[in-house]
Amino acid sequence: MKYILALDQGTTSCRALIVDEKGSFVAVAQKEFTQFFPKSGWVEHDAEEIWNTQLAVIDEAVDKSGISPSDIISMGITNQRETTVVWHKDTHKPIHRAIVWQDRRTADICKDMLNDGLENYVRQNTGLVIDAYFSGTKVKWMLDNVPGSRHDAQLGNLLFGTIDTWLIWKLTEGKSHLTDYTNASRTMLFNIQTKQWDNKMLSVLNVPNSMLPKVQSSSSFFGHFHYRGAQIPIGGVAGDQQSALFGQACFYSGTAKNTYGTGCFLLMNVGSTYTPSKNGLLTTLACDEKGEPCYALEGSVFIAGAGIQWLRDGLKIIGSAKDSESIAEELSDEHDVIVVPAFAGLGAPYWNMDARGAIYGITRGTTDKHIVKATVDAIAYQTRDIIVAMQQDMGYAMKELKVDGGACANNYLMQFQADILGAPVERPVEIESTAMGAAYLAGMYVKLWDAQTIINNRRIDRRFESTFSGTKIDTLYAAWQKAVKRTME
Ligand code: ADP
Repeated sequence: MKYILALDQGTTSCRALIVDEKGSFVAVAQKEFTQFFPKSGWVEHDAEEIWNTQLAVIDEAVDKSGISPSDIISMGITNQRETTVVWHKDTHKPIHRAIVWQDRRTADICKDMLNDGLENYVRQNTGLVIDAYFSGTKVKWMLDNVPGSRHDAQLGNLLFGTIDTWLIWKLTEGKSHLTDYTNASRTMLFNIQTKQWDNKMLSVLNVPNSMLPKVQSSSSFFGHFHYRGAQIPIGGVAGDQQSALFGQACFYSGTAKNTYGTGCFLLMNVGSTYTPSKNGLLTTLACDEKGEPCYALEGSVFIAGAGIQWLRDGLKIIGSAKDSESIAEELSDEHDVIVVPAFAGLGAPYWNMDARGAIYGITRGTTDKHIVKATVDAIAYQTRDIIVAMQQDMGYAMKELKVDGGACANNYLMQFQADILGAPVERPVEIESTAMGAAYLAGMYVKLWDAQTIINNRRIDRRFESTFSGTKIDTLYAAWQKAVKRTME
């Protein structure tokens, strides 16, 4: 038996997974690392700690599995996206703690860029909106604020990378300074039309070319990791959401996945033609059936599972997240109460940061159970909002929605999702899509699998078919949209 090693470097923990030839997990190890919050709105990670934690979980997973490292024929990396590391080429030491994607310290740099009229250029060329989220302004901040760093960067002594690049550098002992297209597309420095670093963005953000990693396909050779006497090729790299899209076998245009966690992350493969969004979505690079770059539209729901946490911890009207399923099931035909969970504004396609949550349709008969059900329903309605925007951008309909993430265990939610979308929802047995994507990309590189074997190997836990008529969908969705509109007034 041959094996693939997948590294899943997330925002709060590092994981290592050993996958066998059939695509089944043989061993998993996971360890959290420190989150630093030095100021309000600032979030940092220690890149050295991430590396050491990642190594520790590799050891643990390999030990648990009992396999020999020489039977690992390829390894894949998936990572938290956008988080930014800058380090010295010679000492390999980071010049500052990594600035995490959630960090808002560069909001003022973004405001300046907006004032300079760069919004349209950024959208057309990077596929992104100007926001502190992405890596570009974080690199600028480091060079502006770490004494001596701008000078060092100009001399060519400093390197930039997202977490994939940092891990590849450490795994190859400084031999490879590389990233893949999916991670590059989250930096705001990369032109997703030409698939090259964008000279104008580099000059706007004052980032020297010499700092940048070379960009290559997600399923290709990134260097060797010498491990316990074995020489393991790094053959797969993708940012977490694109990795999950690949892990869900969304290789072709019109296929989409939604991850139901604290928020929802929706990505739809839109094929090889660049589609800038007219509806406030992001365009980003994802992987086609060979792991080569293709385009995807991306949208996120801010409050999904977080709404369920609010029911449990804030309102205290459910004991556990799981209780929401049976309660919603009990009232499945009642749709009069609508919760709009705009706890922190509304994202795509509304983009209203001032909106706050609201509950509509309350009568003398309304109980806590109605509020629970309406909060579950809101996850599905918000997902529909984004799918509708994606379909408008693409000009054709999504075929089906593949799901993963903690809250996709809720059968009521999945059924209502299919009903309100008017499209099937497919839940795989293996909902570890993110790690599977990295494993598949790595396995493809060594020709262990191709797209068809991946599709054939996927096991479906349940497929939820839509049962609502078109009129019923229209009536319910119109009521939701009216509620959202009133929330924004
Ligand atoms: P994250 O990766 O964002 O931490 P997870 O994928 O672990 O999220 O999913 C956890 C989220 O899903 C929590 O917000 C929780 O409230 C929600 N959740 C978990 N199980 C259910 C369920 N059966 N029904 C609805 N929501 C659930």
